[in-house]
Amino acid sequence: MTKVRNYIGGSWSETSETLERFDPATGEVIGTAPMSGSAEIEAAVDAAKAAFPAWAGTPAPGRADILFRAARVMESRKEELGRLVTQEMGKVKIEALGDVQEAIDMAYYMAGEGRRLFGNTTPSELPNKVCLTLREAIGVCGLITPWNFPVAIPSWKSLPALVCGNTMVIKASEETGGCAEAYVQCLVEAGLPEGVVNLVHGTGEDAGAPLVVHPDVPVISMTGSVETGKIVSQAAAPMLKHVHVELGGKNGIIVLDDADLDFAVQAIVWSAFGTSGQRCTAGSRIIVQDGVYDALAEKLAKACSEQVIGHGWDDATTVGPLVRPSAIEKVERYVKIGQEEDGARLLCGGSRWTGEGELAGGWYFEPTVFADVTPDMRIAQEEIFGPVTALIRVKDLDEAIEVHNGTPYGLSGAIITKDLAASMKAMRALKTGIVYLHNGTIGAEVHLPFGGVKATGNGHREAGIAGIDFFSELKTVYIDYSGGLQRAQIDT
Ligand code: NAD
Repeated sequence: MTKVRNYIGGSWSETSETLERFDPATGEVIGTAPMSGSAEIEAAVDAAKAAFPAWAGTPAPGRADILFRAARVMESRKEELGRLVTQEMGKVKIEALGDVQEAIDMAYYMAGEGRRLFGNTTPSELPNKVCLTLREAIGVCGLITPWNFPVAIPSWKSLPALVCGNTMVIKASEETGGCAEAYVQCLVEAGLPEGVVNLVHGTGEDAGAPLVVHPDVPVISMTGSVETGKIVSQAAAPMLKHVHVELGGKNGIIVLDDADLDFAVQAIVWSAFGTSGQRCTAGSRIIVQDGVYDALAEKLAKACSEQVIGHGWDDATTVGPLVRPSAIEKVERYVKIGQEEDGARLLCGGSRWTGEGELAGGWYFEPTVFADVTPDMRIAQEEIFGPVTALIRVKDLDEAIEVHNGTPYGLSGAIITKDLAASMKAMRALKTGIVYLHNGTIGAEVHLPFGGVKATGNGHREAGIAGIDFFSELKTVYIDYSGGLQRAQIDT
């Protein structure tokens, strides 16, 4: 049993009331986390505000040195962090270590940015005048994170914010407080000054909401469900904050008649059942051209039945548990909707899975494939966030694109075909923030922008230079050394 703590102004602290933390592989309580509220948020924001001038005033390469060290600390603690990921949210070992690796990669990448943070220099309309832009830190950032990438997502938000000179309060997911604590420990061990990063645990309502409306927090970056994204956006809007919300998905993989079906099945399995389908980029709709639909369905059903369900840290396991009992209940509800309300055909899976011994109390669900799904069915429209995918039959590429684009979401889309022209057409036509050609829907790299269109987001992106853009304010500077009064647009 471990007690996770808040980290405020350089001190680790507890609260009198606590939240229980669970191991989804066994259903057992593994410890507690603080149940913070407005008072802890207030203290954390004060600490971040006090630390801001010195941190923003530290030359960016100096801030970057700490990020380089943080990368090395995380490398040295990679297995420990990976174990925590599996313990708190269940994903399989290879993915848990990948979650940590993403934070390491992000730390190196953003540390490199410390010697760039490029602005622009451009010509002026007028002689003897120079025009340029500078990037400046904004202030205290409120970072609200989900449980499904419990090390990676805090890093996606905090590392670009840090290299840009901001300070912050992280409100971690109630499910994965231990991962957030370990991540912040790595930053502290790397030498981050007190107050620059503060960590507060608690529920969305008690700890997240006061952070969003705090007047000294001009920047909010939140990842989670569409419902939470709307609440956060509405709460922050009257204060005209910078808000970035990254939300749910209903990602589609198009498979055309000429595809290598064995490869397609591998890509689909990885996309649909990786992280037990609990990825924002999970491949939850497989849009298949008529000529290969039946053959693909057969191969996918076989592959689905070959998945090994079990403890995420067991090397043999390919599908770990779901994060909490309510996630299992939600998947069950959708399986019922798929069969009864929608009239789709269950091809494989569809039930809870019960393990033996200590796994008997865990929260498992069989990988599940529905066939004969039509584009407007609820199971083809709504985010299930479990190991469930839906096969949709189409006649050609045009119909596939129309079906693909016919949901409210727009995170990632994919096409599997050997036809270059079809790939290029899809690359342009898929209405998503991320497109994969000849692959499934998952697998982000930290130096590229990550995020979605339509209901998945509000136009910003995480990672890459897009992350730097969100966490810095551009200042436009005009330097006139003509010695006289020159007027743009008027002096010609
Ligand atoms: P969630 O919306 O329940 O919670 C996300 C975070 O918001 C948590 O820290 C929670 O405590 C907080 N929160 C909840 N209510 C709040 C409020 N009123 N004010 C402030 N904060 C509040 O989501 P989740 O279950 O943790 O994560 C799963 C969801 O996240 C899925 O929909 C998934 O698609 C999405 N997700 C999206 C991306 C992306 O980049 N697009 C990445 C990962 C996950």
